[in-house]
Amino acid sequence: MTNRAISYRSTRNPDDLCSFREALLQGLAPDGGLFIPSAVPTLPSSIWTSASSFVEVAQQTLALWLKDEVGAETVYALAEDAFTFDVPLVALEGGAYTDVYVLELFHGPTLSFKDFGARTMARLMAHFLAQTTERKTILVATSGDTGSAVADGFAGHDNLDVVLLYPYQKVSPTQERQLIINRPGVQTFAVEGTFDDCQRMVKGAFRDADLTQLNLSSANSINIGRLLPQMLYYIWAVAQGPESLSFCVPSGNLGNLTGGMLAHLSGLPVPRFIAAHNANAFFPRHLAGEDVAFGPTIPTYANAMDVGAPSNFERLQKLLGDQELRAQVWGTYVHDSEILASMRHVYEHTGYLADPHTAVGLHAIRSYRQTTQDHGPMAVLATAHPAKFPEVVERALGRTAETPARLAKLWEAETQVTRIAPTLDALKAHVLA
Ligand SMILES: *Cc1c(COP(=O)(O)O)cnc(C)c1O
Repeated sequence: MTNRAISYRSTRNPDDLCSFREALLQGLAPDGGLFIPSAVPTLPSSIWTSASSFVEVAQQTLALWLKDEVGAETVYALAEDAFTFDVPLVALEGGAYTDVYVLELFHGPTLSFKDFGARTMARLMAHFLAQTTERKTILVATSGDTGSAVADGFAGHDNLDVVLLYPYQKVSPTQERQLIINRPGVQTFAVEGTFDDCQRMVKGAFRDADLTQLNLSSANSINIGRLLPQMLYYIWAVAQGPESLSFCVPSGNLGNLTGGMLAHLSGLPVPRFIAAHNANAFFPRHLAGEDVAFGPTIPTYANAMDVGAPSNFERLQKLLGDQELRAQVWGTYVHDSEILASMRHVYEHTGYLADPHTAVGLHAIRSYRQTTQDHGPMAVLATAHPAKFPEVVERALGRTAETPARLAKLWEAETQVTRIAPTLDALKAHVLA
């Protein structure tokens, strides 16, 4: 590798290169494409043979990508500050789950893997903004996990404000509580409408001349700043796990899978990826060679994966090409009844209480093994804590998950939320006030 900073390009234009800073602060490329690295640095194998903590893996890996633009010292401090929680790889025990591991990514503050991306992205943005006089407002429409991870990750950073929109009475009580607790620099709005109304308002806001003064930016899963940290836990799992560990990724927008692919492209040995989807089956059907188009979103029990048009598909295609993608990734999809059955099956056979998203992955592993007769070691990414989905857990198991202290505490915290009509004017009246 040369000593030059890695450049980024749009998936739709190989010639127009920009820095990581520009890609991070812009989010979407000017031509509507997504940013991808124009070259991938090579990971030293010492990372997965000798790294002794997640923070060390994070520091060494992120430094490889960012040191020439951000500085190694800043990267090291950032990783230590962002990743203050455990990332355990748990071995399941019992018949059908021999050599199945659960990589628990839900020990962060909002109990989903979205914390990795949001916390890293917020710190990187704050770092770059501190070099200017710029302020930014992060505007997010959310139907669940992203909003709380973004609010939590970005709250309290200099030069950054957050505006969150969620559909009033259309998220679960636990999700709502995570969205409305009072956080410095965060304004939350309960929109009297649907998630689509929220998204329409966000799109309108980005085009609105009066709102340019807020210097709006999005923080959704297409931002390159969220992808880099999503490589880290794959490397960490390979560092601690058995040899020849494969990964099963419960997927929606395919950001997590893209993170795994970047790690693989930078040299991490991964025999196989499984893309495990719910009834929103575009990607597994594409992998199977069907001639499919993006479809409307279908609501399921694994609602953080309810995505009919996965935005990172364009990235995966550009990074690997269809042929390579089909060689590396085995895809499958799971209906709601199978999600509940999978939660019951793993609980009865191993005592492990999986959330609905992780259960999609565990079902996919059993299908994969049955279909391919490949019984090699496999880690499912546990993307959320079961206590975030008490209604589904109750329905599947007739009991609820134990509530972790950081979730229980939310019910005593102060809240801040404003109910508004589902129009851009209503939003403007409040944020410009
Ligand atoms: C966002 C999310 C997913 C899907 O991840 P993608 O990167 O969009 O594929 C899966 N599970 C949970 C709990 C999530 O919050």
